[in-house]
Amino acid sequence: MNDLLINKTNAFFKEKFGDAPEKVVLSPGRINIIGEHIDYNDGYVLPAAIDKIICFAFAKNNSKQSKIVAIDLNEEFEVDLTKTISLSKVVWSNYILGVIKQLQDNGFSFDGFNCVFSSNIPVGSGLSSSAALECGTIFGIKELFNLSIPKVDIALMGQKAEHWVGINCGIMDQFSSVMGLENKVIKIDCKTLEYEYHNADFNDYSLILFDSNVKHSLFSSAYNTRREECEEGLSIIKSNFPGITSFRDCTEIHVLQLKDKMTPNVFVRCHYVVKEIHRVALACEALDKGDIEALGKLLFETHEGLSKEYLVSCDELDFIVDTLKKEEAVIGSRLMGGGFGGCTINLIKKGEEEAIKSKLTKLYKEAFDIELKIYDVKIGNGTSLYNRN
Ligand code: ADP
Ligand code: MG
Repeated sequence: MNDLLINKTNAFFKEKFGDAPEKVVLSPGRINIIGEHIDYNDGYVLPAAIDKIICFAFAKNNSKQSKIVAIDLNEEFEVDLTKTISLSKVVWSNYILGVIKQLQDNGFSFDGFNCVFSSNIPVGSGLSSSAALECGTIFGIKELFNLSIPKVDIALMGQKAEHWVGINCGIMDQFSSVMGLENKVIKIDCKTLEYEYHNADFNDYSLILFDSNVKHSLFSSAYNTRREECEEGLSIIKSNFPGITSFRDCTEIHVLQLKDKMTPNVFVRCHYVVKEIHRVALACEALDKGDIEALGKLLFETHEGLSKEYLVSCDELDFIVDTLKKEEAVIGSRLMGGGFGGCTINLIKKGEEEAIKSKLTKLYKEAFDIELKIYDVKIGNGTSLYNRN
């Protein structure tokens, strides 16, 4: 699947600029197994890079101008590297301008380059095509001009570029795009950025994403409210238990003891967060033991919490999870990402995938008159150079 994309990107570069590219970079999207709405609550998340990628072809052009082509959109733009970088009206170019600005602001010096890129990561479905775009661009510039940039710094600059574009994201997306390893999930401590890999062998089960194909506009207002509610809850917890500085130090009992001191909303949000942080630890244990059924149960529990306590689900996502819960072949399912639309992540018994896919597609269409989209994903490597041999 990626070979076609790589060939197409190389051929486009050659056609456009006359020569073969000097560097070809592959930069992946990501999934998150568990740990949802947890990055901004200083907890742990468990993402992985996937085998859906953006492919970039780069070459120096011996000038101070860079020319970048988005093959999928049939659009291009030029940037003068001697001038101050500012936001453009072309949305996709801002991710690239953002990383160029980050590199410059961090003192890295480089000259003009030509770049074309093309992708098979669905855009806006919660698989972080934007992080792949940022991290792949930084990686390509680093390789082209021999810049010495540690991987974690690529992720951090990618995140800052996204903030510059106007999205106040956590570090998870860029971190997983850069640090991913085949068949491994990454447990990231979102407070300290320490991380560890765990084996991601799902044994008899396949990892499949169902895309609800909706995005409700509640998303950004709810995101901000959740952040505020969690801050309020944490300050109540801290003032009652002086030893506690973060949700990670809490048990469910701490939160239950303070139920009367919190508004009902703040209480359920905190209850979800503390339980979800605990579930990430349990998910790592389950993966280490190869107990995929236990992992699946945790996914269902997370969805229940996101839907009933954190209130970031929607009818379409609940329908998908509730429908799948009735199927013996599905051992786990939950909404993935911020919520109010996007994908569910699902563990389905090998051999049963096609039956489940067609049944759900039909039921979903009947219920909402919307086409379900389906992505089979494998866990892949982080941003890297492509070796032609
Ligand atoms: P996602 O969940 O996919 O990261 P975002 O809204 O954060 O969704 O980022 C999607 C944006 O990234 C697109 O609107 C576009 O500006 C940019 N982008 C992603 N993939 C491509 C691509 N193949 N070509 C051009 N721009 C892209
Ligand atoms: Mg994004």
